[in-house]
Amino acid sequence: MVAALDRRYPPAWAEEWDRVGLVLGEPAAPVRRVACVVDVVPETVAEALAAGADMIVAHHPLLLRGVSSVAATTYKGRIVHRLIKADVALYVAHTNADVADPGVSDALAARFGLTGLRPLHPPRPGSPADGPGRGIGRIGELPTPLTLAELARHAAAVLPVTAWGVRAAGDPGRMVRTLAVSGGSGDSFLAEATAAGVDAFLTADLRHHPAGEHLAAGGPALLDAAHWATERPWLDDLAAQLRDELGVETVVSDLDTDPWTVHAAAPRPDDKEPRP
Ligand SMILES: [Zn+2]
Repeated sequence: MVAALDRRYPPAWAEEWDRVGLVLGEPAAPVRRVACVVDVVPETVAEALAAGADMIVAHHPLLLRGVSSVAATTYKGRIVHRLIKADVALYVAHTNADVADPGVSDALAARFGLTGLRPLHPPRPGSPADGPGRGIGRIGELPTPLTLAELARHAAAVLPVTAWGVRAAGDPGRMVRTLAVSGGSGDSFLAEATAAGVDAFLTADLRHHPAGEHLAAGGPALLDAAHWATERPWLDDLAAQLRDELGVETVVSDLDTDPWTVHAAAPRPDDKEPRP
């Protein structure tokens, strides 16, 4: 299992700051059922244990920064204890799965039916991840051009459902033909989306100042989706690969781990009932 995952998502392809690969478990232990999740949190762990999984493959690292204790009295230590006691292994494929071809953003691009895919942020030439088709994010053409407002509504319909939904920045009537997508936090790729000449860029975790300055400089329109919703589509690809190549059973978590649970849009002026 570990060797097969390492072949598809070589740990050397991960960013330097990232922590990927086998986190918990015996490499030689047999694996019959794998749970695929974006986040390793108590809820997804409970779901994996209830499904009888022997292994969890997660996108986000459980232990990204150094820890000096995994005592069961700590949040993450509790998770580590639960997994070890249940004899469930944990494997992480993060930025090495983002950069792979196919990778996390290919599954996101597929939700929009994008064609002619190319990477948004190719790896540095000569770096371990350098190779044809590889890179973070994807650029492609929509099957039918849509206005930004239409595309935002379409995105909310084709992406996994979250309270956050999708918000867009820029002229709502702007026509979008070429779309860049990047699963997860895509703040740092705004300049590349502009340089690529796309009409719009869909990602997650966009912020006031970078977004505002990007638009003021004439950059592509922006769509800000829920972080979880942009990476959840990849779990289907991952599960299909594990089933087809390794013959293991898979369960894909649809548990929304996005932290935002309420979204209230202000009523539009014409929606307001006259007060008595
Ligand atoms: Zn992410």
